[in-house]
Amino acid sequence: MGRTNKSGIDYSNPEEVKAYEQAYQKEYYKKTREKRKEYKKAHYNANRGQYSENGKKWRAENIERCREFGVRFRIENPDLIRKYSRDYYDRNKNNADFIRMCRKRGKAWRLTNPEKYKKLSKKSYIKNKVRIFEYHDNYRKDNPEKIFAYSKVAQAIRQKKLKRQPCEVCGSTVRINAHHDDYSKPLEVRWLCPQHHMELHNQNDTQNDISIETDALCETM
Ligand SMILES: [Zn+2]
Ligand SMILES: [Zn+2]
Repeated sequence: MGRTNKSGIDYSNPEEVKAYEQAYQKEYYKKTREKRKEYKKAHYNANRGQYSENGKKWRAENIERCREFGVRFRIENPDLIRKYSRDYYDRNKNNADFIRMCRKRGKAWRLTNPEKYKKLSKKSYIKNKVRIFEYHDNYRKDNPEKIFAYSKVAQAIRQKKLKRQPCEVCGSTVRINAHHDDYSKPLEVRWLCPQHHMELHNQNDTQNDISIETDALCETM
């Protein structure tokens, strides 16, 4: 039987001593938690440059771990990620280079995930149906010259006065669109597949009428 003291510890029993020490340490950490936090913060603020250097170095040496962490974080915090990217987009939406990059990435994603894209666009169409109809309606009212040109082309095709041609860029014959450089000449059109039609409009950023044009005139040859 070992010697006991006020706190009732049996000092001859190493396990009991260890447990006591651990409990004491835990209590100590708990008590000084706020203080330690403050100290850390002050140290961080005073040595910001060094911290950022160290962080950079660590990330460069642990690329795989960073990637894993990033993937896990994105899976565990989808709402946060959505918010971040929306904020980022809002901050940069007037930057033409950024928008161009977004379009490029979006296109690459659509090409590599055709099934997901199909599902997503269907979902978003159902969700935004009313808005889309309104948009098209307003567009028709605001652009009578364009609408007139589209209907002229459609009519000429029906009457076999105009024949859909392969895409002038790639020669595709699927879902060919008629594109107007000048709406005052309704029957002067360029034939383009959806992809090259989109690219042409992306270049002339001022026009945003591709959906309507496509709507009005997109058929398989
Ligand atoms: Zn094409
Ligand atoms: Zn066009």
